[in-house]
Amino acid sequence: MRIHVLGCHGADCLADTTERPVRQESCGFLIDDSVLLDAGTVGARLTLAQQRRIRFVLLSHLHFDHIKGLPTLADNLAEGFEEPVIVAATEPVIQGLMDHVFNNKVYPNFFKLPDRERPVLQAHVLEPGKPLTLGHVEVTPVPVNHSVPTVGYVVKDRQAALLYSGDTYQTEAIWSLGRTIPGLKAAFVESSFPDEMGELAKKSKHLTPALFLKEFQKLGRPDLPVYAYHMKPAFRTQIEQEIRRLGIQQAAFLQEGQIVTL
Ligand SMILES: [Zn+2]
Ligand SMILES: [Zn+2]
Repeated sequence: MRIHVLGCHGADCLADTTERPVRQESCGFLIDDSVLLDAGTVGARLTLAQQRRIRFVLLSHLHFDHIKGLPTLADNLAEGFEEPVIVAATEPVIQGLMDHVFNNKVYPNFFKLPDRERPVLQAHVLEPGKPLTLGHVEVTPVPVNHSVPTVGYVVKDRQAALLYSGDTYQTEAIWSLGRTIPGLKAAFVESSFPDEMGELAKKSKHLTPALFLKEFQKLGRPDLPVYAYHMKPAFRTQIEQEIRRLGIQQAAFLQEGQIVTL
């Protein structure tokens, strides 16, 4: 499984480093060129030809930083597409896209365009806990603990499996499932705020580095490669320092443009 990190932050920002400026972007992970896991960043990082290879978009929840690339992806693909792109998400997310995004006010309804009989986007409602095959991967959505209905995912192919936490506060079910997956090769776990902002993390239902460690330990796989993501750009450096201090030797921090191979 080859995961291309299009965006891995909790917002968009141009990082103010001493070297070349780095663009930090909202969450979007392209698996084997064809399955997009969250759609916060799409067109800003992919050529038109690459966007045309996307067959499935898998959404964790409706928050803007996870869907905002989807409208313009549809726009880019609407002329001359061969097959509709399947947008797979739980019912509240699909309904939310219809009500609040593709409602012909915020954006045209590409679930009915360019042709009602042959739209560029096609919705597929996922049932939490129930595995589904999308092309060459099997995905299992698992409810997690966020401020709106949200799922994390276990994504499997023949060789490997990835656990993706989604935006979450302390949770259980996804770790229980993760413990039963022998082919699990990596976990992407959110860490949005530094420890001193624990109150905000609790209110907005996100993790801090201390909670990141507690959650990761629930997997019972202390040596599993674990990647922090969804850092709020303003706190990335501080979050990195705090996670490094926790002593998880193999912990890493996702970066835009990175390719993770499992
Ligand atoms: Zn988010
Ligand atoms: Zn969120």
